[in-house]
Amino acid sequence: MIAPGEVWLVGAGPGDPDLLTRKAEALIRAASVVFHDALVGQGVLALVPGHVRLVSVGKRSGRHSKDQKSIDTLIVEAALVGERVVRLKGGDPAIFGRATEEMEACRSAGVPVRICPGVTAASAAAADLGLSLTLRGLARRLTFVTAHTQKGQTVALDWEALADPQATLAVYMGKAAAAEVSAGLIGAGLPADTPVALVESASLDHGGHFLTRLDLLPLAARTALGDGPALILIGQALSAGQMSARTSASSQCEATARVRRLA
Ligand code: SAH
Repeated sequence: MIAPGEVWLVGAGPGDPDLLTRKAEALIRAASVVFHDALVGQGVLALVPGHVRLVSVGKRSGRHSKDQKSIDTLIVEAALVGERVVRLKGGDPAIFGRATEEMEACRSAGVPVRICPGVTAASAAAADLGLSLTLRGLARRLTFVTAHTQKGQTVALDWEALADPQATLAVYMGKAAAAEVSAGLIGAGLPADTPVALVESASLDHGGHFLTRLDLLPLAARTALGDGPALILIGQALSAGQMSARTSASSQCEATARVRRLA
């Protein structure tokens, strides 16, 4: 399944190990070394057999442990000495996962590299919310965007292009930039009462989700979120969902009340 000297970029999904593909699980079991991100869930890491070397190369914003170049080098060097390498990444490796850099590093060293897809955070967030990201007639477009910035820089996004009332916007790495996202979209004409969902640690038992509106997004991001990875979903599709049983009605009411009180 995985030959010595080969690298697989494997999607670990959003955290719940049951959302791992069967192929991802088989690759993890067949590997001799697994390099994983900080975002990969504990439940997924628990599936890595004891004899497989498990190496954390985690990056969480603000807390860099390895830069991208060192990660590229680690993977390539492991493959060149004949290891069966799994590079385990949160969600889907091909969505905001620096997959290109790692694949180019492999290819330029003559190392075969392949991708095993995973469930991306936006899909897991929609499942937690119990709603569809697209909506016939109302949300015809789904846009994945990252609002990640280098320290001290502003988010360079084309707000005019993103402020489409018929689109659902999934903002990855957007927690720190919530105020800019809200101001940018409202400034470009998206109504202030556009529904917004904040979903933290989607698919995990300790996760939570909060519904708010675009003008209250900065406040909600500041007050309702904890330490976990969070996705911001924006658009009319967010008004249509049934709340799933996983988030208690009371925690939602509390969050909404908190947001209202502070507004
Ligand atoms: N490749 C990943 C995304 C990596 S970027 C994927 O396909 O999901 C990292 C960002 O993804 C986080 O800042 C957060 O915005 C989002 N994210 C990842 N896992 C998440 C989760 N379980 N719940 C909510 N957001 C998540």
